[in-house]
Amino acid sequence: MDLNNLKSDPIVVVGGGFGGLATVQALLAKSERTPIILIDQANRFLFKPLLYELLSGELQLWEVAPQYSELASELGFIFLQECVVEIDAKERKLITSSETEITYSQLVISTGVTTDYASLANLKDYAFGFSNLNDCLRIKKLITTINNSSKFMNPIVIAGGGPTGVELACKISDLLEDRVEIYLVEKEDRILTNCKSFNREKGINAIGKRNIRVYLNSYIKSIDKTFLYLSSSDNQMKNSMKIDYSFLFWTAGLKPSKSKLLDHFSDENQKIQVNKYLQIHEFKNIFSVGDITFYDKDPFPSSAQVAMQQGLLAAHNIISLRKGNQLKTFTFEDLGEMLSLGIGNASITGYGITLAGPLAFEVRRIAYLMRMPGLFLFLKSSGSWLFSKKIINRLFSQDP
Ligand SMILES: Cc1cc2nc3c(=O)[nH]c(=O)nc-3n(C[C@H](O)[C@H](O)[C@H](O)COP(=O)(O)OP(=O)(O)OC[C@H]3O[C@@H](n4cnc5c(N)ncnc54)[C@H](O)[C@@H]3O)c2cc1C
Repeated sequence: MDLNNLKSDPIVVVGGGFGGLATVQALLAKSERTPIILIDQANRFLFKPLLYELLSGELQLWEVAPQYSELASELGFIFLQECVVEIDAKERKLITSSETEITYSQLVISTGVTTDYASLANLKDYAFGFSNLNDCLRIKKLITTINNSSKFMNPIVIAGGGPTGVELACKISDLLEDRVEIYLVEKEDRILTNCKSFNREKGINAIGKRNIRVYLNSYIKSIDKTFLYLSSSDNQMKNSMKIDYSFLFWTAGLKPSKSKLLDHFSDENQKIQVNKYLQIHEFKNIFSVGDITFYDKDPFPSSAQVAMQQGLLAAHNIISLRKGNQLKTFTFEDLGEMLSLGIGNASITGYGITLAGPLAFEVRRIAYLMRMPGLFLFLKSSGSWLFSKKIINRLFSQDP
């Protein structure tokens, strides 16, 4: 693609996750003639809520992570696989790691967050994160190794009792058929603190049915190759508890990936401060959406739902800005929450239903696959599911 031959300065979106891709799709739907460029350092979009099913083999790579090149030709945008390293907001241009310079008319930043290994010394050396495709593939390999060996009898420790920690614990426990004990460490006095009460209850039940021991009011104080040390966050534990662990999975903190490109825009949390229209204060032709974005007057949760809704609004506001129309304010509409709770199990609150068990698992899978960007890819991946006789029968049967 010769970027010098574009008829006008393109609208550029950096980061093709939920926020970035939703922006691109909404811009395309408005079908202006302006070229739209999506830049991502990876070659695949990743549907992160389905990473657990990729880990378990219940879904395949092509279903959870379609290639950007396929999406680009399907939907009609320009895709560049590059890492953006710098933005020159005054000159309206950005620079990639291959030293390509791209001038934009409007820019959307949606670079997301990644595992924060900085909260504990040695963490990077001994812990596995679970926030991207590589993490998932590494853990998948590890599980095969554990299943094929009698060497790993010590517990697997998972740090963080939020949705990711709980969902990961249930899936791994099922994959290991309860052979290895899992310790779930949470610093609060309960797991799934911010989840809806129905889902929390189902999550606690799912954990209780498996070989998973929960340590509440606890945190990992230090770690080395063989041992990690638990301390209590409510001072109940006098001395640290020493655990001879086999593997540590870290789901206890995320942070924006540190990059020079954000230096001009980010606050002390390294997030990008926006106004109510999702614009950066100083540069009104730059928008920010998704997990990297922070609005101090009305903070919203970090979620795929928020990122997608922001992407839609950013696209709308970009078109309005170009036409000289009034911009719209961002408001988050909470549609509900779904948890993956082991192989073939899930819990759903919202989306008009409250449901748990195998049927919830199938509804969750269909609901997510229906949101997969690109109609063709969606049909390819979910068609068999949507039209599966078995599921339709189960959805409409009177049996419990
Ligand atoms: C395991 C897991 C399960 C989850 N489950 C749920 C769930 O059930 N429901 C829910 O609502 N949310 C869930 N989330 C959270 C949700 O996935 C995120 O909130 C969402 O992905 C945020 O979208 P985003 O666009 O901000 O960032 P991302 O989706 O993370 O995308 C960021 C993109 O930017 C790219 N990028 C970063 N830096 C650069 C650069 N310098 N140059 C070029 N490209 C760059 C990355 O490669 C990436 O593709 C889950 C997250 C995880 C990890």
